[in-house]
Amino acid sequence: MAAITIRELTKVYPGGVRALDALDLDVADGEFFALLGPSGCGKTTLLRTVAGLESATSGTVALGGADVTRLPPGRRNVGMVFQDYALFPHMSVLDNIAYPLKIKKRGKADRHARAAEAADYLGLEGLGRRRPGELSGGQQQRVALARALVAEPRIFLLDEPLSNLDARLRLEARTFLKRLQKELAVTTVFVTHDQAEALALADRIAVMEKGRIRQLGTPTEVFRRPANLFVASFIGSTPMNLLPGRVEGEHVVAAGAVLPLPEEARAELPVGEEIVCGVRPEYLDYSDRPADGAFAGRVSVVEHLGGSALVTLDVEGEPLHVVVGEGREPEPGDEGWALPRPGRVLLYRDG
Ligand code: ATP
Repeated sequence: MAAITIRELTKVYPGGVRALDALDLDVADGEFFALLGPSGCGKTTLLRTVAGLESATSGTVALGGADVTRLPPGRRNVGMVFQDYALFPHMSVLDNIAYPLKIKKRGKADRHARAAEAADYLGLEGLGRRRPGELSGGQQQRVALARALVAEPRIFLLDEPLSNLDARLRLEARTFLKRLQKELAVTTVFVTHDQAEALALADRIAVMEKGRIRQLGTPTEVFRRPANLFVASFIGSTPMNLLPGRVEGEHVVAAGAVLPLPEEARAELPVGEEIVCGVRPEYLDYSDRPADGAFAGRVSVVEHLGGSALVTLDVEGEPLHVVVGEGREPEPGDEGWALPRPGRVLLYRDG
C-alpha cells in the first residue's frame, strides 16, 4: 500500500497564490522521496499540507490508505524536521529530544531512556546536557532528527534538512541521512532546491514547477531522460546544452551539426519540424579535429574545475558547453569539435 496518496491537491493562499495545482502523487512505503524545484514552486506547501500544517483548498491526502485531509497535525503521526530545526533554545539536548514524548504524556523515566537511546543512535553521546546554542549546525540537525524519531512517526518529512550546513558537513550529513533512512526504512519525503542532494539521496524525485509535478522518476531517469524542456534545463550541475534545430529527412540539423534522428522519434517528429536538441556537457567528446556529426566552433572560455575543464565553444553564435578531461584542455581561440555520444542527444518539440 502507498504510504502517501495525494489526489488533485490544490492550495490557494489568501491573496490568490495557487501554490499547489491539482497535484497527484503516490509515495511508496519505505521510500526516500525528494521534492525538487525552483524557489516558489510549492515544495514546502506540499510538505506542510501532508503534515497538516496547511489546510488543503481542495483535494485529498491519505496516509497508509486513511484519509487525513481534515485531521490536525497531532493526529497524523508524521514527524517533521524544519529547515531551521526549530529546537527549543532554553532546553537541553535531551529535553528537546524527549519533548514529543512529554506531549504524549509518557512517564519521565521512559522519556529519558528513549531520548538517551535516540541521542546515542544519532551520535550525540555526551552532548545531552548542552543547549542547542552550544552545538554545531550538524549536531543541531541530529538533535532535530532524534526529536522527530522518538515519536516513531510513520512518515518523516524533512524541509531542506541540509541547507544550514557548510559544504563539508553537508556531504557528511548527507551520507548519514541516507544510511539512517535505509536502516529505519521509514517513508521519508524531503524538500530541496539542491539537485545534487536530490540525485544523491532519493529513490525517486518529483520535479515541480508552479504547483505541479513536471516529472517523476528515479535520479537516473530524471538526469538521463528529462521529460520536457523545463526539467532538461533545471537538472544538471552544468546546465544541458539546448540548441535549436530542424528535422531534415532522417537527420536533425542543429547548430550546423547533422545528427541521426532515432527511428522511434521519426513518427513523432515529421520532416520540417522545429525542435530543440538537448545534450549534456558530460556527454560530448571534445576533439581538435573535425568528425562526422560533431558540432564545430571556436573555443571562447576554458574554466578549470579540478580534474576536468568546462570548455565553451562558440557554435554558430550559440554557446556550447563541453566537459574535457584533465590535460586535454584547448586554449581560447582554438578551433574545436564536440561529438555527442551515441544515444545521448535528446529531442524536444519547441514550445
Ligand atoms: P522555496 O524553495 O523558496 O522555499 P517552495 O518551492 O518551497 O519555495 P512554497 O514556500 O511552497 O515554495 O511557496 C509556493 C508559493 O506560495 C510561492 O509563490 C509563495 O510566495 C506562496 N506562499 C507560500 N506561503 C504563503 C503564505 N503563507 N501566504 C501566501 N502565499 C504564500
